[in-house]
Amino acid sequence: MPEHVPIVPWRLVNTLPADDCAGTTMPLCFPWLHRLGRVSKPVPSKLGDDECETVQVDQAKRDATTIRYRHAADLANKVAREFELSDDDVRRITRGFVEQMNEGLHHHGKAIEQLPSFITHLPDGNERGTYLAVDMGGTNIRVCAVTFHGHGAYSMDQAKAAIPPTLMTTKNHRELFDWMASIVRAFVEKNHTNWKSASLDLGFTFSHAVEQKSINSGTLIRWSKGFDVDGVVGQDVCALLQQAFDALDLPIRVTALTNDTVGTLLAQAYTAPSRRRTVLGAVFGTGTNGAYIEKVSRITKGQVSNPDPEATMIINTEWGNFDQGLDFLSLTKYDRAIDTASVNPGFEMFEKQISGMYLGELLRLALLSLFQSQGPNDFNSIPVPKSSSLYVPWSLDTSLLSHLEGDNSPKLTASAARVRDWLGVAKIECKIVAAIKTIARAIVRRSARLSAVALGAVLIQTGCLEHEGSREAGVCIGVDGSLIELYPGFVADIRCALRCIEQVGAAGEARVDICIAKDGSGVGAALAALIASKALKR
Ligand code: ADP
Ligand code: MG
Repeated sequence: MPEHVPIVPWRLVNTLPADDCAGTTMPLCFPWLHRLGRVSKPVPSKLGDDECETVQVDQAKRDATTIRYRHAADLANKVAREFELSDDDVRRITRGFVEQMNEGLHHHGKAIEQLPSFITHLPDGNERGTYLAVDMGGTNIRVCAVTFHGHGAYSMDQAKAAIPPTLMTTKNHRELFDWMASIVRAFVEKNHTNWKSASLDLGFTFSHAVEQKSINSGTLIRWSKGFDVDGVVGQDVCALLQQAFDALDLPIRVTALTNDTVGTLLAQAYTAPSRRRTVLGAVFGTGTNGAYIEKVSRITKGQVSNPDPEATMIINTEWGNFDQGLDFLSLTKYDRAIDTASVNPGFEMFEKQISGMYLGELLRLALLSLFQSQGPNDFNSIPVPKSSSLYVPWSLDTSLLSHLEGDNSPKLTASAARVRDWLGVAKIECKIVAAIKTIARAIVRRSARLSAVALGAVLIQTGCLEHEGSREAGVCIGVDGSLIELYPGFVADIRCALRCIEQVGAAGEARVDICIAKDGSGVGAALAALIASKALKR
């Protein structure tokens, strides 16, 4: 066994399982190696960026051991390879995804839950009226008042507030719902002078797995995206919000419960040109999920029925939990570390490889392993202070990955400053930033290719590319979420992976429009309130 160098003090926090980055050892720049007589060849004063220097080490008359200096680019490429997903992987995982979508339609409690939304048709763009919406995301709450003018046009007022992290895991669920009601009250007071005289209908976007009983009631199955509030699982979340409104004496009626993906699908359908058929609403933000139009005849698990063989219903897939049994996904050691540290170990394994909440942390863990690796290399020779954010879980926001990807300056100066500040070091070399960018890109590329798996599986399940009357007619996927909106090239990576799925191919991919449904979840929740209010009046 090669001998280990004493661990420098800044490495003592947050260790990952040992890997083959660790092991061979000895920073060449440490002069004490000479004094110990361990290095049999003079150490060069400076190693060129591209060369890998090899020296022979005499370990106290034992076998000679080869020590290799590892450059940042080599190390980064090695880590990046761990995140690779081949075209065959994409095809294989897509087959598994379609399988699990159908299992969810046939049985309760499957990995992909396939939850009926009780919304049976999409808007056609001619709807009118003003409706409120509350969208409780994984990071923010948005309150909107949307006025639909018909012809796919709408106008809206909206306000946004960050959800206080303490409320995401509070022991008293009333604190969370009362806080939401107070945000809504502040909003209507500001934007609707006559709010006290007219009752307002509201759509509630609640983006965690909910078993819906009707369009305006649903019990929480489990929290996701880092939420873990006591006393809500098994309860009707619409009723909880209504109670909070009633407690404040607000004349607001919660008429619809949706989730952000159903909302995105509705919003996209309202604004899309009529010759484009909207088939899917998908979210890539804090979490990931999708909602699509399914035939009621295929939902055989007994919640809904309709004698009309052509009847449809929007299904909220809850695809973040795809492959709970890990039959299709492979995990890196960073994925395992994230899962172990999460509030829901063993669940949402697909989401944990895709969504904004996790990608920054994946990068942090990958970097941590390099900074803590043993053996002479470009990373562990940087003096990172103990107080560095490198050692603080969840300290690296996914937006940094976007900044790295969007920085095309020759010396990466813009992103270098951010990386330097995050690491807490005085300066950082371009080659280190470039190496970090390589790893970041690999993490996001895997995320985008897995996103394509979900999109491709829905295209296959709905048969929408097979049955269009005209070859030219397109299908529309509405998407929402900061990751897909803001990460440069995320959609291009999705498209590239879609082309390699046999049933989609280049021709099918060209017919798919991936449209950002701006304000999708808010507008969609207001549309759900409109659809529900109409149904109540009937
Ligand atoms: P929500 O999920 O609450 O609806 P968003 O759609 O804004 O909110 O998604 C928030 C997630 O997106 C966070 O995990 C955040 O890290 C990530 N994010 C924010 N900005 C960016 C960006 N520029 N690029 C990539 N991801 C981002
Ligand atoms: Mg959102």
